[in-house]
Amino acid sequence: MAESARMNEAIPKDLRNLRACLLCSLIKSFDQFQKTGCENCEEYLAMRGQPDAVYEYTSSNFDGCIAMMNPTQSWVSKWQRIVPYIPGMYAVSVSGKLPPAIVRELKGHGIHYKPRDSTQGPA
Ligand SMILES: [Zn+2]
Repeated sequence: MAESARMNEAIPKDLRNLRACLLCSLIKSFDQFQKTGCENCEEYLAMRGQPDAVYEYTSSNFDGCIAMMNPTQSWVSKWQRIVPYIPGMYAVSVSGKLPPAIVRELKGHGIHYKPRDSTQGPA
């Protein structure tokens, strides 16, 4: 898929039903997650076409919103440690946690999941 088409899918089209990915904090509408999954995490979370997975791996309870149009150069992306991620809208803090089974699976891929909920202190 062309980079521009991919990027369009990552920008929220609809301000209702917005959810943030629990793994990378990408914000999209429920419909977008269901349609295209999370561009950053689809490989691990497989949300595309799986509404149950979207409910489980994303949260409607998030704080703050950062627009990232150039993730490789933005200081914001360094701060958020999301350098390789696609351009889009990202939440500063996301409430909720991935299910333990997924966390174990991520570990198997060498990814150490840290909950992005900054309101409840270290998990
Ligand atoms: Zn994600």
